[in-house]
Amino acid sequence: MKILLKGGRVIDPSQNLDQIADVLISDGKIEAILPNISAEDARVIDCQGLIVCPGLIDMHVHLREPGEEWKETIETGTKAAVAGGFTAVACMPNTKPPNDNAEVTRFILKKAEEAGLARVYPVACITRGQKGESLTEFGELKEAGAVALSDDGYPVSDAGLMRLALEYAKNFDLPIISHSEELALSKGGHVNEGLASAKLGLKGIPAEGEAIAIFREAMLAKLTGTPIHIAHVSTKEGVEIIRRAKAEGIPVTAETAPHYFSLTEEATFGYQTNAKVNPPLRSEADREAIIKALADGTLDVIATDHAPHSPLEKLCEFEKAACGLIGLETALPLALRLVREKVISLSRLVELMSCNPAKILAVPGGSFKPGEVADVTVFDPEKRWVVDEKALHSKSKNTPFLGW
Ligand SMILES: [Zn+2]
Repeated sequence: MKILLKGGRVIDPSQNLDQIADVLISDGKIEAILPNISAEDARVIDCQGLIVCPGLIDMHVHLREPGEEWKETIETGTKAAVAGGFTAVACMPNTKPPNDNAEVTRFILKKAEEAGLARVYPVACITRGQKGESLTEFGELKEAGAVALSDDGYPVSDAGLMRLALEYAKNFDLPIISHSEELALSKGGHVNEGLASAKLGLKGIPAEGEAIAIFREAMLAKLTGTPIHIAHVSTKEGVEIIRRAKAEGIPVTAETAPHYFSLTEEATFGYQTNAKVNPPLRSEADREAIIKALADGTLDVIATDHAPHSPLEKLCEFEKAACGLIGLETALPLALRLVREKVISLSRLVELMSCNPAKILAVPGGSFKPGEVADVTVFDPEKRWVVDEKALHSKSKNTPFLGW
């Protein structure tokens, strides 16, 4: 089967491409990108006025299946993904049971295939049960289809064990994704330490705790020579350490999430549980540093940390509410705001949301080079819509962006 995407603005940073052109797809592969292709046997899709780019890849989502299907399933999560422009997602292993063995990895892939929407790439646990005590079977997990390893939701607190994980992961070419949090400082905290903790009278989570954890990971990457990817960077201090590590040639990559460049801790005022997230929303200075780091290359990826929760976990006292917000359907519009404000170019946006995640995870996509898999996102950058519960495909509606 052939598909011809006609007359869109084609943006592919992997080939330095930004021009009006047609994209011809044949048998699921990119065949050609040229002005005015004619292919009589192709299904033609008019893309005039639209952006055509390599499919967006969200390398950090929580799909909640198995175990918490009332919050999200692989089917509803991938529905939200494609509605948000993502052709692929990497799902974190903190399910119930956690994805610490090949059986769970295979179950996730089977469910994803049944849903038939976005590609799903399972991220498996670094440690058994995410307990931080002993390593999982990296080889078996890779063979079952895991693309990376992380204990996301929890840090691996034992530096010796993390060193071992990095050394072991190198043998299997499995990237390690670090949830960088110094628990000794963050434990019992609910919001950013500073304005929010003072105003709400809640225990705070200091920015320095994230920075300490990121520094440790950078040193372990240096020690082992194994790349490490830092998840959900939220602080100015964290950004500074990544910038220094990169300047020294340490193999570190990093992501942030749309809420860290769109909101500050003020969103939690009034005990707004939809703005409760870990790491917490930070100060305006942090937000500005994150935006600068997205523009200058210190941060490599925008990932959502899509974390669905039902009203059960959110309509309660702030201290008891679960951490996390959904993000698959609001990520692209929020990132486009940075383009509109001329902080990043459209091409940089595509790098952050497609090319770089594909490279870091070593998965297909992120490029329109001939012969590449035809994962394509087409979107209208000018279209306006309002985020309301009915418009969202995710099973959960916990987002601080309702009404935006
Ligand atoms: Zn995390």
